[in-house]
Amino acid sequence: MLRSLVGYARGVGMDARWLVIEGRPAFFRVTKRLHHALHGALGDASPLGAAERVVYDQTLHENARALAAIVRPGDVAILHDPQTAGLGPHLLAAGLSVVWRCHIGSDGANEETERGWRFLEPYLCDIPAFVFSRSAYIPPYCDHGKSAVIPPSIDIFSSKNQPMAEPAVHTILVHVGLVEGPPPEPADHGFTRLDGTPGRVQRRADVIRMGRASAWETPLVVQVSRWDELKDMQGVMEGFARLSNGATPADAELVLAGPNVKAVADDPEGARVFDDVVTAWRALPHGTRNRIHLATLPTEDVDENGAIVNALQRHAAVVVQKSLREGFGLTVTEAMWKARPVVASAVGGIQDQIEDGVSGVLLPSPTDLDALGRALRELLENPAEAGRLGAAAHERVRERYLGVMSLLRYAELLERVSAAR
Ligand code: UDP
Repeated sequence: MLRSLVGYARGVGMDARWLVIEGRPAFFRVTKRLHHALHGALGDASPLGAAERVVYDQTLHENARALAAIVRPGDVAILHDPQTAGLGPHLLAAGLSVVWRCHIGSDGANEETERGWRFLEPYLCDIPAFVFSRSAYIPPYCDHGKSAVIPPSIDIFSSKNQPMAEPAVHTILVHVGLVEGPPPEPADHGFTRLDGTPGRVQRRADVIRMGRASAWETPLVVQVSRWDELKDMQGVMEGFARLSNGATPADAELVLAGPNVKAVADDPEGARVFDDVVTAWRALPHGTRNRIHLATLPTEDVDENGAIVNALQRHAAVVVQKSLREGFGLTVTEAMWKARPVVASAVGGIQDQIEDGVSGVLLPSPTDLDALGRALRELLENPAEAGRLGAAAHERVRERYLGVMSLLRYAELLERVSAAR
C-alpha cells in the first residue's frame, strides 16, 4: 500500500520518503508478541515486561539516532504500527510533527489487548494525531478527538490489481507451476510495473502437492495470506476437506498461497506455521490431499510477486479469507476488486468490506468449518450467484477502498496537523 501512496504523494510535489527501521530477532519477537496482543491473542505467550521494554527501547533508540541525520524540525513523520511507536518521543523531541498509524486492533477488549496497549502507552501519550483502520480499534487513551479513521486502500494500477487479460492469467499460472501446461498460444507473461515499465513473470512458486498441477478448467478455491496462525490456513484446509467428503462440486481444488517463508523479516513465526500446515496436509486422507496445493510464492521482485497474486486471485472460483482475527484484510479487498465471490470470517475490517449475502459471504464464527464447507459448496454449485456477489463486491471496493480516497483523507489530516503547529 505504501509503495503506491508514497509515489502518488511525490507525484503531487510532496517530498515524501519511506524509511524502514532495522531490528534484530529479539526485537521482532517482542513486536510479533505485541501484534498478537493488540489482536487480543496470546501468540507465543511470552511476557511483555521490563526486559522486553529494554529490547524495544534500545532498538528504537538506535533507529532514532540513524533518523536524526535525515529528518528536520517541521517535517511530518507518519509512524506505522507497534514496531515504530517507540520512535514517537524521539521525533517529537527533534521538533517533528508525529502521526501514529495503526493497522491492527481487536473487535473487543481482553487481557491481551490491555497488555499490548499498556506496553505502548508511554510512547503514544504525547502524540497529537492518530489514524486507525476502524473506530472500534481506538484504545481509550487515544480517543480524545485526536484519531482519524482511514481504512486501507488498494492501488488499481499496481501489478497486483491492474487489469489482466485471461491469456496472461493462464500463462503466468502455468509458468509459476500452479496450473498444468501447456500455456496458451501466444504466451503472455507480461504485466506493468509500478514505475510504468513492462515486467515479465520469470520466477516460479514452490508448490507442495501429490501429483500434477490443477487443470486450467478446474475451479480453484484460493486463500492468499502470510503464514500466520491468525490467518488459519490449516482451518481452510480442514473446511475444504469437509467439503470434499461429499462429492466435491465440479471437482474443485484448493490452493493455499503465501510468501516464501524466509522472506518476511519481521515475522519470526512464518516458517513454523508453514511447517504445521504441511504436517496437517500430510495427515489428510489421500483423496483429499490430492486436491490441495500448498504454494510459497517468490518475493524477490515485489511487482512480479504482485502479478502472480493477481493471476491467482483472478483465476479463483472462490476466494477465502478465514482469518481468526484480522486488522483489515487487504486480500479481501483485492479479491473483491477482481469481482471474485469471497467467503470470509466476520472479524475485524472484513465486516466493513463485505455485506453478507450482497457483496460476499461472511462466516459468523471463524472456527465453524462446516459453515465454511457449506458456503464453498453453495458458491461452487451456483456460478450465477457467485457472479452476482462478485459484481457487487467490485462496486463496493470502487466506492470505498481505492487509493485516491486514502490520499484525500491523508491530505485532510496533514492540513490539520500543519494547522495545529
Ligand atoms: N501478500 C502477497 N504475497 C503473498 C501473501 C500476501 O503479496 O504471498 C499480500 C496480499 O496480497 C495483501 C497483503 O500481503 O496485499 C496482506 O495484507 P492483509 O491486510 O490481507 O493481511 P496482513 O498480512 O497485513 O495481516
